[in-house]
Amino acid sequence: METLDLEPIQMKGIDMGKRPFVIAGPCSAETEEQVLNTAHQLAERGIKIFRAGIWKPRTKPGSFEGIGSEGLKWMKRVKEETGMYTSTEVATAQHVYEALKYGIDLLWIGARTTANPFAVQEIADALKGVDMPVLIKNPVNPDLDLWIGAVMRINRAGLKRIGVIHRGFSTFDKKIYRNQPMWQIPMEMKRRFPNLPIVCDPSHIGGRRDLIYPLSQQAMDLRFDGLIIESHCSPDDAWSDASQQVTPELLFTNVLDKLIIRDMNQTTESLEDLRKQIDEIDNQLFEIIAKRMRISKEIGTYKKEHNMTVLQTARYEDIINKRVAIGERLNMSANFTKAIVEAIHEESVRIQMDIMNNHD
Ligand code: PEP
Ligand code: MN
Repeated sequence: METLDLEPIQMKGIDMGKRPFVIAGPCSAETEEQVLNTAHQLAERGIKIFRAGIWKPRTKPGSFEGIGSEGLKWMKRVKEETGMYTSTEVATAQHVYEALKYGIDLLWIGARTTANPFAVQEIADALKGVDMPVLIKNPVNPDLDLWIGAVMRINRAGLKRIGVIHRGFSTFDKKIYRNQPMWQIPMEMKRRFPNLPIVCDPSHIGGRRDLIYPLSQQAMDLRFDGLIIESHCSPDDAWSDASQQVTPELLFTNVLDKLIIRDMNQTTESLEDLRKQIDEIDNQLFEIIAKRMRISKEIGTYKKEHNMTVLQTARYEDIINKRVAIGERLNMSANFTKAIVEAIHEESVRIQMDIMNNHD
């Protein structure tokens, strides 16, 4: 059974119920000066939970892989000097032991780690008997069960103050976002586990500082509980993720101060959630249809260059039959699937006829 035994995250001095609770700090701890400078600026403005990556999972070797345990001493200073709670990413049991030794208050599991059940189990085992908040990022791939599985592993190790972080999903086809938000996945997580706090990471979804604000607003409109945002005293000089970090000042003036927090009336909440999911699915549906039309256009150009006719009857029959079969497997009526395929095909033919008749 997929049940979770949860308790509110609750950290003294923070009203977790007041949306959003905010975790901010640099992608990576780089130098003592950079960590403390950033931390002081954030604390002065009211941030209560500081983040900094100590061990960095980088896509390719050779880039900055994190300062390592040395940085934990700086985190300790942050705590002592600013009173903020500290948080970092752990990917191995050793990371957990080190982080605990230096009094880190909150841990998160990174997206690449969540995708690996062996690694999550190792972390869960290292955390047995420890009572601290742990946030679990979604896996890099859009697999809700894998995400839930990671949450269950940590929960079964006895930890109850658990939350999740939505940081988007990587795709081969890069579009405006570094990681596709696919909001319907975190929304489904929320629907299944209404007591599981959910935090949005607009820095890693967007990959660009100008996207932090709109993504944060969207997360608030979807009733996310918190935000984790990358903030650096000198973002352009950051050793990792420079393009998606903002100064502590801009974090407030361009993002947090601008957020509008709407509190929806209890009775319409679930309907609103479902409608937002529908909106999101329609966006994706139209993006995919547009992509199909672009490919259709390329085929049209090929046909013209090779003196082929636009309509290839055998291919059309084949498409209809195969799509109707797919539709049936997905519990959609043959009539409905056929109508969709015909409409799409008709538009493809129109596009290709345009190419044929265009003589320049
Ligand atoms: C991070 O938070 O700096 C990080 C590495 O994130 P993710 O695991 O989401 O890629
Ligand atoms: Mn980062």
